[in-house]
Amino acid sequence: MNPSWKETTIHERNRKIFAEELDAFLPDAILDFHVHVFNAGVVPDGEPFSCAGHPIDRYDLQELAGDLDAAYPGRTSKAVCFGFPEVGYDRRKNNEYLAAACDSQQFFALRLFDPVEDEPAGVKKDLESGRFRGIKPYPNYVRKADVNAVEIPEMLPAWVMEIVNALGQIVMLHIPRKARLADPLNQRQIVELGNRYPKARIVLAHIGRAYYLKNVMGNLQALKAVPNLYYDLAMVNHWEVMEHLFQTVPADRILYGTDIPLALAPGKSVEINDQYTYVTPVPWELSISDDHGRLRFTSFLYEELRAIKKAVERLGLPRDFVQGLFYDNGMKLLKRATG
Ligand SMILES: [Zn+2]
Repeated sequence: MNPSWKETTIHERNRKIFAEELDAFLPDAILDFHVHVFNAGVVPDGEPFSCAGHPIDRYDLQELAGDLDAAYPGRTSKAVCFGFPEVGYDRRKNNEYLAAACDSQQFFALRLFDPVEDEPAGVKKDLESGRFRGIKPYPNYVRKADVNAVEIPEMLPAWVMEIVNALGQIVMLHIPRKARLADPLNQRQIVELGNRYPKARIVLAHIGRAYYLKNVMGNLQALKAVPNLYYDLAMVNHWEVMEHLFQTVPADRILYGTDIPLALAPGKSVEINDQYTYVTPVPWELSISDDHGRLRFTSFLYEELRAIKKAVERLGLPRDFVQGLFYDNGMKLLKRATG
């Protein structure tokens, strides 16, 4: 498979961006709280995953380790890893691989959680084993005809939240519904979840999927007081969204995350007329693609780093903030989630 689609320092153009814009900004240690890893055999034969238009049939820890080095040269990097939450993928094989292969030093595993097929005894045993730091539910696992009708409690039944809460573990939550963070029912159910399970740590992936300013403005007010709620920045490329988050929620709740391997692909997410889309050089079902070849892209990942840096600089935030965001905040969560 041709790895050249990855926009890291394997290409001179990205070495230049890294040297000129990112090297002086990034701390020595980086913890990526949002990475998808899947071993051979998880994806059905002949139906590769489309990584922003680049088909891949696996993404294992070895490949991840190499990509982290190429994305952040000279840094020590760690990652919180979970499988691909697709109903048609082999969830068990993916979970077993991560449980066995994550060393809990560099790589930490979350367990894919399926509310239809998983059973309390099995989940409890897995989470108590110390091999996982929490769970990764997903709207699709509820298997509703309309995935936009899914509600958070359907993704996370009380029995699994009781297990996670008792162990002080993590829920990596990709919230459902079309209006995302702006959805009033989501808002209410996120607050209820945090309050009902105070020892659990709830991470809103992609800042509650608010990739664009219209979706985030005003919608963190009810959430910021919930003490066990966290926000990962995965695939957010929008500096104004970052700035609003950094100004609004407590600094120790913000977690760097990328959505690697997706974030290694060339592209950028953009806001247009109160909506967002991805723009990519090649066709992808979630993007508008540059079929005229007008632009030279870098990775979503570097665009995210640029946005973080710009927001930090505009707000004049201290190095402590940067250190917390990229490493300390997440490491604290992992340490208390050992079970
Ligand atoms: Zn993801």
